[in-house]
Amino acid sequence: MYDAIVVGARCAGSPVALLLARKGHKVLLVDRTTFPSDMAFSNHFMHQAGSACMKRWGLLDKLHATGCPPITHDYFDYGAFSLTGPVPPVDGVNTAYAPRRIVLDPILAQGAVDAGAELREGFSVQDLLWDNDRVVGIRARHSGGEVTEKARIVVGADGMFSAVAQAVKAPEQHTSPGLEGSWYAYWSGVPMKGWHLWLRPNRVVFAYNTNDNLTLIGAAFPAREIAEVRTNVEKYHTATIAEHVPELAERMSQGKRESHFVGGVIPYHLRRPWGPGWALVGDAGYQKDPCTASGITDALRSAEWLAEAIDSGLTNRIPMDQALAAYEKHRDESEMPYFQLTTQLAALAPPPPELAQLLFALQFNPEQRSRFFGVMAHAVPVQDFFSPENMQKIMSGNNQATAAS
Ligand SMILES: Cc1cc2nc3c(=O)[nH]c(=O)nc-3n(C[C@H](O)[C@H](O)[C@H](O)COP(=O)(O)OP(=O)(O)OC[C@H]3O[C@@H](n4cnc5c(N)ncnc54)[C@H](O)[C@@H]3O)c2cc1C
Repeated sequence: MYDAIVVGARCAGSPVALLLARKGHKVLLVDRTTFPSDMAFSNHFMHQAGSACMKRWGLLDKLHATGCPPITHDYFDYGAFSLTGPVPPVDGVNTAYAPRRIVLDPILAQGAVDAGAELREGFSVQDLLWDNDRVVGIRARHSGGEVTEKARIVVGADGMFSAVAQAVKAPEQHTSPGLEGSWYAYWSGVPMKGWHLWLRPNRVVFAYNTNDNLTLIGAAFPAREIAEVRTNVEKYHTATIAEHVPELAERMSQGKRESHFVGGVIPYHLRRPWGPGWALVGDAGYQKDPCTASGITDALRSAEWLAEAIDSGLTNRIPMDQALAAYEKHRDESEMPYFQLTTQLAALAPPPPELAQLLFALQFNPEQRSRFFGVMAHAVPVQDFFSPENMQKIMSGNNQATAAS
C-alpha cells in the first residue's frame, strides 16, 4: 500500500513524487516509457518561474551543469518594431533554460528517486482500481506481466491523453481544437542571444539555444494551413523563414540542420483536477497552446501546488477533499488569465489596435517592457499588466514621450 501512486514521470509527475517523498510519504512513480527519452513533440523552453521551481527543489544546479545555456533576454520582433531586453527574475532567478527533454526529464525523475520515491519504468497503467466511487489503485502492464498496486491517492501526470483522466471521466471545460501548429528542428552553427520570436500575421518564427551547442528553430502556422504544411514541413518551414526573417535564413544557410522536423497541433482543455482518490496535474489537467512555451513551467508550478495539497490531506491537516478543492481553485485562478492570453496569441492574428499601440509604446518604456516579458515568464500576473490602470499608465507615458520629442 502506497500513500501516492503517480502515473507519468516527466515535468509534472516527477516533481509531485519528489516533493511527497521528501515529506516522508511512500510514493510509487511509474512511466510507460524509459529514461532518457524524447517527447514525440515538445519544444522545451522553460521560463524563469520554472527555473525558480527547480532552484527551490535543489535541481537547478544539476540542469546548469549539463551545459544548457541560460537565457536572460527576450527578443520579440513585430516587423515594424522590436521589443528586446532582460526578463525580470522570479524568486531571484532571472534565467530561463531550454533543456532537451532527454536532459530535463531524467533530472526530475532522478530527483524523485533520490528523495525516496520508487520509480518503475516501462510500466504502463491500463486501468484504475475502484472501491465504490473511490479510486484505490492501478492495474498496469510491464515486461513481467500484469500487476495491481494500491494507494491512498492516484495522481494522473500522464500527459494530454491522460488514461487517468479518461478512467475517472474528469469533467472538461474550455475544450477547443488547436488554433495553430508548429514544427522545429535543431541547427548547429546558429547561436542565439535569448528567446527570439518573430511575430508576423499568420506566422511566428521562434529560436533559442539548447544543449549540445544546438539551436532550436521553429515556425508556427494557423490551423487552416496545417494540412498543407504537413505535406512538406521542410518546404514550408524554410519558405516561412526566408520570407519573414531573411536575416535568420541567411545565418541558417551557414549552419547545419542536425535533426528531422518534429511538431504538430494539440487541442486545449481544462479538466477538473480531482475527485475521490484521484488528482490530475500538468497536461493531464490543463493544456493550452504551446505558443507561449509554458507547458513545462506550468507543470512544474502545479506539481508544487498539488504536492502541498496532497501532503495536507495525507497528514490530516486538512480533509483531502478540501485540500484538493483548494488546489483546483488556486490552479484555475493562477492559470486562467494566462490560458486566455495564450489562446488569443495562438490565433496568429495581427494584434487588435489597442494592443498594437501598447506594444509599440513599450519600445520607449524599458521598465514596462521588462514587466511585459515578465508576463510571459510568469513573473508578473497577466491581469496586473493588462489592467486598465497599467495600460493607461503605459499609454500616457508614451504620449508624454511623443509630446516631448
Ligand atoms: C508542439 C509543442 C510544442 C511545445 N513547446 C513547449 C515549450 O517550448 N515549452 C513548454 O514549456 N512546453 C511546451 N510544450 C508543452 C509541454 O511539452 C507539455 O506541457 C509538458 O510536457 C507537460 O508535461 P507533463 O508531465 O504534464 O506531461 P508529459 O510531458 O506528456 O509526460 C507524460 C508522461 O506520462 C507517461 N504516460 C502516459 N500514459 C501513461 C500510462 N498509461 N502509464 C504510464 N505512463 C504513462 C508518458 O510516457 C509521459 O512520460 C509543447 C507541446 C507541443 C505539443
